[in-house]
Amino acid sequence: MNELLTSIRAFLDERVIPLEREFLSSPFAAMEPRLAALRAEVRKRNLWAPHLPAALGGRGLSLTDFAHVSALLGETPIGHYVFNCQAPDIGNCELLIAHGTDEQKGRWLEPLARGEIRSCFSMTEPEFAGSNPVWIGTTATREGDRYRVDGHKWFTSSADGAAFTIVMAVTAAGAPPHERASQIIVPLDTPGVTHVRNISVMGDTGSGYASHAELRFESVRVPVANRIGDEGAGFTLAQERLGPGRIHHCMRWLGICERAFRLMCTRAATRELAPGEPLGAQQSVQHWIAESRAEIDAARLLVLDTARQVEEQGSHAARDRISLIKFHVAGVLLRVLDRAIQVHGALGMTDDTPLAYWYRHERGARIYDGPDEVHKNAVARRILKAHGMRSRER
Ligand SMILES: Cc1cc2nc3c(=O)[nH]c(=O)nc-3n(C[C@H](O)[C@H](O)[C@H](O)COP(=O)(O)OP(=O)(O)OC[C@H]3O[C@@H](n4cnc5c(N)ncnc54)[C@H](O)[C@@H]3O)c2cc1C
Repeated sequence: MNELLTSIRAFLDERVIPLEREFLSSPFAAMEPRLAALRAEVRKRNLWAPHLPAALGGRGLSLTDFAHVSALLGETPIGHYVFNCQAPDIGNCELLIAHGTDEQKGRWLEPLARGEIRSCFSMTEPEFAGSNPVWIGTTATREGDRYRVDGHKWFTSSADGAAFTIVMAVTAAGAPPHERASQIIVPLDTPGVTHVRNISVMGDTGSGYASHAELRFESVRVPVANRIGDEGAGFTLAQERLGPGRIHHCMRWLGICERAFRLMCTRAATRELAPGEPLGAQQSVQHWIAESRAEIDAARLLVLDTARQVEEQGSHAARDRISLIKFHVAGVLLRVLDRAIQVHGALGMTDDTPLAYWYRHERGARIYDGPDEVHKNAVARRILKAHGMRSRER
């Protein structure tokens, strides 16, 4: 494992991080050929898709081992993409491995694993509260051996240029809330699918892999064989997908924290407020550094322990721990980024470091995959239930 981490660290330092500044100021399409060259090199060095089983060309790492790798890759905004373990493809791969038919695996999973196509996941809708996952308006109506999909989605990350999306759609409106929806693969070139726009996020519209789309589905017809799992299993599959997905985000955030911490320390040690008076001599800066170190180390232990618990007991049994790390590590991430930007002064607001990019794009950490409040409510409700509180379940 140490050898693997050393190889990845060297590759990131020598080949990936030098490309970062250009990535931060260029459209994704302009960077794609150079990123593709890096991806080819990652494959040649046998570092490709560390999370995927060897049969799919990956390294077959356990969740705990992948946590260490993912935290390293998170130190640069392009790390996961270059190693083909980026969200949302990583979650879609896991879903297809666990629930895909042989046909779905051959058509969608294998090209994803080889890095030939990209994918996305369409659950959230502008008209419905995404924090209530059983309340959606998109429908998939059965017409013989096909579904007709109608609906409106947004914040479908990385849809621009993706080959397919997995759509969460109501297939049985009269069923109990948790059995109403199904997950259906919709190729994005199917007639009736409209890519309305890439949404501007904190002033950055992005493009290609690095974007979030608004999509419309109007009388979109796909084979029933495109459904993943049973009809009505959409919510259960979404939970299954989001559990490990939240851990993956936390692992990546730890990497961002480490890089931001290093940048903050280097700047504090070398920036002088007056000749011979480093910024780091200020007590406020020293406190930010000490607090950040403690928060990152504690977050890392919590994430690794959660990964271990998921491996031993499954993500359902570990759901409280997953909720805890989701909101806790998101908070650590934003505090560390904010301190690092403050220490950099005006430089922190520029794209000459990755700090501003992360600040723009990771504010969403407290919102996506369940807002903080939803996770806190869920954990606290179960704790209080164990203490005798009785309340109505939604
Ligand atoms: C960068 C980014 C990427 C995303 N990528 C995807 C993607 O690829 N696919 C996809 O389908 N979706 C994606 N999303 C959407 C995301 O999952 C939703 O934004 C999220 O589920 C919240 O839904 P909402 O935005 O509708 O907020 P709402 O449900 O309207 O909630 C608004 C706010 O209300 C508060 N709130 C909600 N519920 C409660 C509660 N029970 N108690 C107290 N307060 C509460 C929270 O503060 C919350 O932020 C992405 C979002 C972002 C920001």
